[in-house]
Amino acid sequence: MAEHESLEFGKADFVLLDNVSLEEFLANLKLRFEKGRIYSYIGEVVVSVNPYRAMNIYGRDTIEQYKGRELYERPPHLFAIADAAYKAMKRRNKDTCIVISGESGAGKTEASKYIMQYIAAITNPSQRAEVERVKNMLLKSNCVLEAFGNAKTNRNDNSSRFGKYMDINFDFKGDPIGGHINNYLLEKVGRVVHAREEQRMQGDVTKTSVAMFFLADFKAVADAMKVIGFTTEEIHTVYKILATILHLGNLKFGNDGDVTLIENSKLVAVLGELLSTKEENVEKALLYRTVATGRDVIDKQHTDQEASYGRDALAKAIYERLFCWIVGRINDIIEVKNYDARIHGKNTVIGVLDIYGFEIFQNNSFEQFCINYCNEKLQQLFIQLVLKQEQEEYQREGIPWKHIDYFNNQIIVDLVELQHKGIFSVLDEACMNVGKVTDEMFLQALNSKLAKHAHYTSRKLSPTDKSLEFDRDFRIRHYAGDVVYSVLGFIDKNKDTLFQDFKRLLYNSSNPVLKAMWPEGKLSITEVTKRPLTAATLFKNSMISLVENLASKEPYYVRCIKPNDVKSPLLFEYERCKHQVEYLGLLENVRVRRAGFANRQTYPRFLQRYKMISEFTWPNHDLPSDREAVKRLLQGCGFEHDVAYGKTKVFIRTPRTIFSLEEQRAEM
Ligand code: ATP
Ligand code: MG
Repeated sequence: MAEHESLEFGKADFVLLDNVSLEEFLANLKLRFEKGRIYSYIGEVVVSVNPYRAMNIYGRDTIEQYKGRELYERPPHLFAIADAAYKAMKRRNKDTCIVISGESGAGKTEASKYIMQYIAAITNPSQRAEVERVKNMLLKSNCVLEAFGNAKTNRNDNSSRFGKYMDINFDFKGDPIGGHINNYLLEKVGRVVHAREEQRMQGDVTKTSVAMFFLADFKAVADAMKVIGFTTEEIHTVYKILATILHLGNLKFGNDGDVTLIENSKLVAVLGELLSTKEENVEKALLYRTVATGRDVIDKQHTDQEASYGRDALAKAIYERLFCWIVGRINDIIEVKNYDARIHGKNTVIGVLDIYGFEIFQNNSFEQFCINYCNEKLQQLFIQLVLKQEQEEYQREGIPWKHIDYFNNQIIVDLVELQHKGIFSVLDEACMNVGKVTDEMFLQALNSKLAKHAHYTSRKLSPTDKSLEFDRDFRIRHYAGDVVYSVLGFIDKNKDTLFQDFKRLLYNSSNPVLKAMWPEGKLSITEVTKRPLTAATLFKNSMISLVENLASKEPYYVRCIKPNDVKSPLLFEYERCKHQVEYLGLLENVRVRRAGFANRQTYPRFLQRYKMISEFTWPNHDLPSDREAVKRLLQGCGFEHDVAYGKTKVFIRTPRTIFSLEEQRAEM
C-alpha cells in the first residue's frame, strides 16, 4: 500500500476503497487524474492514466526518491514498480518482467521508456565505461525502432505498429551488460502502401511511417544508428531501401492489349540504381514470374492487376525485412557475448513488454485480429499470474484462502488458437487448398465450424444484427468488447506470398547488405518446394513462446488507461474509462487483493513503521521474535480479528486497520 498522501488526492491504492464498486473505482480514478495523480496501485499493480501533457515527475530528483525504497513508502509511480522489479532481480536473483498493457494511445510505450530510463539511472554507480556504453545503446535502440516501427493512426500519433519485448541482462553487481529484443508482427499495410490504397484498406492509419521517417527527426535517427554501431554502408542501404519503397508506391501499370506495361518506366532505372541491380532485372521481376511446369521453367507475364499486387507485396516485404534486419543488427550488437558472460558471472534478466494494445478500427482486418488475439493471451496470463501468485503467497505463508470468480477469457483464446477448431486453423486450412480460395470461402468454413460458439457470430448467423453490415463480416466477442472483422484480405495476408522472382532479384543485388537480407533468394524456382509457414501460424507460435517466457519470470504489471479520444489533458471521459476498467478486470483485481488481504508486510518492516504505537515495541521489544512483537502490538490495538500471521509476513484484511494504524502513528 502506498504512503498515504493527503486524501484530497483520492486513495492511492484501490484496495483502500470503502466499497469495491465500479462507481467508486471510477470516482477515485477521476479525482486522482484531475489532481494530476496519474498513477495509482491495486496492491502491486500500477494503474496509469495517460495525462496527455508533460508531467514534472520523471526527473533526477524523483528518481532519487524512489531508489531502493519499498513500494508503499512513496506515492504510486512507475519508478516504484521498476525498482521493485529491479530489487527482486538483484536481491533474490530472480528473472523479472514488466508487462505493460492497455489500448492504443493509453501510454504503454511512454511508460516503457520511463522504466528503462529509471533502470539506466539507478545502475552503474561506479560509472564503468562498458556499462555506460551498453546503457546508451539500449536507450538509443528505442529511438531507432520507433522511427521504423511506429506510425500515426487516428488513435495515436505515435502508435507502435509492432510488439516489442526487450530483455535487459544484468551482471552480479546488478549493472546492465546487454540486452535482446524480440519483435512481433509488424503491421505493414498502413506503412508502405500509398495513401489512396490506405484509405481503402485501413482508413485509420493516416500517415505511412516510411514517409514519417523522412519527416521525423531524420538526423537523430541516423545518429542513433551510428551510436549503436551500424556502419555507414548499412545506413546508406537503409536510406536506399526506404527510397525504394516510396518509389514503388508511385509505380503504375497498364496494358497494351495483351502486354502489361510499366507506365512510368523511368522509375525502373531509379529502382535498379537503388537496389544495385540491373534495370532490366527489375523490370522483369515486376512484369513476369517464373513458374515451373513439370520439367520446364517458363516466364509467365503478370496481368496489370497481378503486377500491382506484386508491387505492393514487394514494398511490404522489403519494409518488413528491413525492420527485422534492423532488430537483428541491434541484437548482434547488444547481446551478451559468451565471452562477456564468463567475465560477468551470474546473469539475470528484466524483461519489458510493450505490445500493441487492443484495437477497434472502423475497418478491422487480419492485423487487428492478430493484435487483439495477442491481448487475449496477455489477459489470460494476467488472470493466471495474479491469481496464482496470490494463492501461492497464502500457501507459502500458511494462510487459508478462498477462490474468487471472474471472467476467464480462455474460451476466446481457444476460439482463436485451438488446433483444428480455432480460427487460425480454419484459416490455414483454407490457405492450404489448391486452386483459388476466396475470403468468402474462408468465412463459410468459419460459419460452419463455429456456428454455436458463444463468442463468434457473423452476418449469416445473425442476419438481423445491425452491427454486421456486410456479408463479409464476422464478429468476435473479445474480453475487451465486440469487434467486427472483415474477412477481406485474410487469405492473402495469411499466405503473405512474395513472388520468388523478387527474392531472387534482391539476393542478386551487388549491395552486400541488401543481399544478406534475402538469403532465400538463393534458391531457384525448382528448388523451392517447402511451403512457408503462414503469418497466422508464425504469429501464434511467437505468442505462445512469449507467454511461456513471461510466465517463467516474476511479473510486474502496468495497466494503462486512455482517458479520452481527443488527446486532452483535461477530459476524463467517464464511459470510455469505465469500459477500460471493466475489461482490464481491475475491479476483480481489487476484489482478489482484498478477499485475501489488502496489505501484507514482513514483520521487521511492520515494526519499523508502527513500533512507536505500542509500549511493548517502542523503542525495542524483548519478545522472542518480531512475529510475537507484531502480535502483541496488534492485540493491544484491538485488531486481532482482522489479521493473520504468516510465516514471514503479517496479513491485514481490511484497509481500515491500516488507516487506523497510520492515524495512530501520525498522532505519536
Ligand atoms: P500504441 O498501442 O498505439 O502504441 P501506446 O499505449 O504505446 O499506444 P503511447 O505512444 O505510449 O501509447 O502514448 C501516446 C501519447 O500519449 C504519447 O505520444 C504522449 O503524447 C502521451 N503520453 C503517454 N504517456 C504519457 C506520460 N506519462 N506523460 C505525458 N504524455 C504521455
Ligand atoms: Mg506504443
